[in-house]
Amino acid sequence: MQRDRAGRALASFLENVLEILRRGVKLGGFPEPLYKQLSRPERIVIVKIPVRMDDGRLEVFEGYRVQHNSALGPYKGGIRFHPEVTLEDDVALATLMTLKNSLAGLPYGGGKGAVRVNPRELSVRELEELSRGYVRALAPVLGEQVDIPAPDVGTDPQVMAWMVDEYSKVLGRNVPAAFTAKPPVLWGNPVREYATGFGCAVISREAAEKYLGGFRGCSLAIQGFGNTGQWHAYWAAKLGAKVVAVSDTSGAVYDPEGIDVERAIEVKRKTGKVTNYPEGEKLRDPQAPLYVDADIVAPDAIENQITVENVDKVKAKIIVEGANGPTTPEAEKKLYERGVVVIPDILANAGGVVMSYLEWVENLQWYSWGEEETRARLERIMMNNFQRVYERYEELRSRRSDVTFRDAALVISLQRLYEAMKVRGWL
Ligand code: NAD
Repeated sequence: MQRDRAGRALASFLENVLEILRRGVKLGGFPEPLYKQLSRPERIVIVKIPVRMDDGRLEVFEGYRVQHNSALGPYKGGIRFHPEVTLEDDVALATLMTLKNSLAGLPYGGGKGAVRVNPRELSVRELEELSRGYVRALAPVLGEQVDIPAPDVGTDPQVMAWMVDEYSKVLGRNVPAAFTAKPPVLWGNPVREYATGFGCAVISREAAEKYLGGFRGCSLAIQGFGNTGQWHAYWAAKLGAKVVAVSDTSGAVYDPEGIDVERAIEVKRKTGKVTNYPEGEKLRDPQAPLYVDADIVAPDAIENQITVENVDKVKAKIIVEGANGPTTPEAEKKLYERGVVVIPDILANAGGVVMSYLEWVENLQWYSWGEEETRARLERIMMNNFQRVYERYEELRSRRSDVTFRDAALVISLQRLYEAMKVRGWL
């Protein structure tokens, strides 16, 4: 059990997710059985994965796949390789995937997989053995119409390539649609590399158009310069915004005149540190972008970054959550009291899973739309999702002043799940 500095027990990740569910069911006026259905996964599979290590030793890893809900379609969600991940975390993550996929309007339920392992401590061969072993152990419950994994923390397109290859071997035929975010040469799509950041940029633009009168010339500050943050910055600049601050664990770069994003990405790739960018002011605090003068702030790094302790320093009018869970509930409340709008993770960073859906549709047809058309489809879906949540938010807010964008997203997501379960006869 985790405790705070005063020794009080902290709610677990799963408890927090269940609390969100409870709040959504109440706010949307749904019947209690909806909570009963969604607070437990449909199926949890625990497997052992024996791997012969490079030194000849036999290691046996524990792997999970949580299949949370299938009311809207096959289970969909990533596979995480992390030394501290627990089965309980996996249940929480799978629950969030059900909500995210429903909100995005995808024909998917939610699932998530995990292996307790530090992938950085494995050789490439050991990592390949583990990835293939995971698939062999779970093959009976996976599949293009059953459960479609993708990468998550600690896994990547190479891992997906091994997994789809192993699954295809088990079935004795090629099954491209059984995994998504594969390398482009193996039935993947080049848009996947930047899909999450691209989606964040589209959402930033849509929010700016509603609340700031337009995106062109708007200032944007981004905390975290990894896959999400770099592509968020890149596409926001392409769409007309001015990126004034970026950061990674080495610190931050601030330039009110605007950062040359392509150059910053090149510097980060070559040297590993964005602070080696030659211009602008260098700030030591990696959280500095959260506090600079900017119209939009995007926490794109990790969870729990905007908290009650630092929320008063945030000056932006809009927060776009590229990372998962970067704003604590108490901090979010304070932001809304000041008229700041927080576009929640479940909407803002859905570009990755929406792109996975497009890849899956391509694979089922053995056809590729190519980069431009795929990106246009992704953009349309993200814009449509934003519009739906915006309309629901404005409508709910006209009745209750304490409603957030996150609440509106949750209610839309639950509404779709409720209707699907109702017509299926599950409620
Ligand atoms: P990543 O590892 O590629 O990048 C993370 C970046 O954040 C790195 O540049 C790191 O230096 C920086 N960072 C870490 N701690 C920081 C701190 N305290 N202050 C400033 N910078 C810090 O990870 P990613 O894939 O970009 O994921 C980032 C977040 O986005 C995570 O919350 C993840 O769950 C979420 N997300 C990612 C995707 C995706 O497709 N990559 C999809 C949905 C959600």
